[in-house]
Amino acid sequence: MALKIAVVAGDGIGPEVIAEGCTLVRDVDRALDLSLSFDHKDWGAERWLKEGVGMPKGALEELARDYAAIYFGALGDPRIPDMAHGREILLGMRQGLDLYANFRPCKCLHERLSPLKGKGPAEIDMLVFRENTEDLYVALGGTFKQGTADEVAQDVSINTRKGVERILRHGFDTARARPRHDGMKKLTMTDKHNAVRFGGGLWKRTFDQLKGDYPDVTAEHLYVDVLAMEMVRKPERFHVVVANNLFGDILTDLGAALMGGLGLAASGNVHPGKIGMFEPVHGSAPDIAGKGVANPLAAFWTASLMLEFLATKDAALAPRLLRGARAIDAAVTACVDVGPRTPDLGGAARTQDVGAFVREHVGRALAA
Ligand code: ATP
Repeated sequence: MALKIAVVAGDGIGPEVIAEGCTLVRDVDRALDLSLSFDHKDWGAERWLKEGVGMPKGALEELARDYAAIYFGALGDPRIPDMAHGREILLGMRQGLDLYANFRPCKCLHERLSPLKGKGPAEIDMLVFRENTEDLYVALGGTFKQGTADEVAQDVSINTRKGVERILRHGFDTARARPRHDGMKKLTMTDKHNAVRFGGGLWKRTFDQLKGDYPDVTAEHLYVDVLAMEMVRKPERFHVVVANNLFGDILTDLGAALMGGLGLAASGNVHPGKIGMFEPVHGSAPDIAGKGVANPLAAFWTASLMLEFLATKDAALAPRLLRGARAIDAAVTACVDVGPRTPDLGGAARTQDVGAFVREHVGRALAA
């Protein structure tokens, strides 16, 4: 049966980079005979403003039942300052589909892109996992005596044994299956249990119990403040990093900066074994939307992550899906190296120039 992909291009530069990404994936599909099928969903600001609908009724059930993956652009529109549509669609998918593992490769593709002196592709190559369904992001809490001098505000952090264990296991499994380029297999768990005792304590106890199941993976614990410092000081000591929702949110942005900025950063939100939603880290970038200069490389890298995830869902197609993913990775690296560059990377190229270069590179690799 064909692997079905729901495409949600969204707002701003989302449709511009996702159009390029879809053309690229279609090329890979044709070259490798993957029989992927694509359905475009018009969820985003326009529909919200016209009909007041973010995600139509029954859409979550349909995604869970019929689709293998979601290829997502970005949401955000100056006409909807509170991002109400974004909350409904994006958070709806993350929570509604229980996409508990958010991950972002933090891999520097070229010395030139690194903000750290003397650190480049050999040193900056980690994979950051953020727990995506719990912690302070569950919107539990409230205010008391709001608007007075005695106001009290509270946000509740939820940490469950099940939630902590599954993200840690996924991190350990990934460290085992995908060693760093130099062969390192390591998982760094981060928390702040010296100060945040209860949730942090659960994370630390669970980590200590699980690490025995992975004797081939080096397991290390670092407090999050030390980790942030070390990611900048000595990024080469990290392979897989696992953090709760809040710490992961911050660390993944630090990671995006280490690899050279938003134009390149890709991410996945997955429920292993079920469905995955793949999105570039950047937002809708209203300042450059419609100008044809958005960098599509993050969307291309995101497409590669999606193909890799699809390989876990279809054993027969897996070798070809992985071949496609590796061809995209190589083309993105070549583009950063010698290809056209959009203005965010210091060039004057347009989105479509980058798309054409990457497609040509992928086409040659897959024809060989
Ligand atoms: P959001 O709240 O949706 O994340 P934001 O405006 O805070 O939106 P982005 O939309 O990611 O964040 O944009 C931040 C800056 O990075 C903007 O100046 C934007 O032009 C730039 N930027 C983001 N993505 C790209 C891209 N793919 N190519 C070029 N520039 C980009």
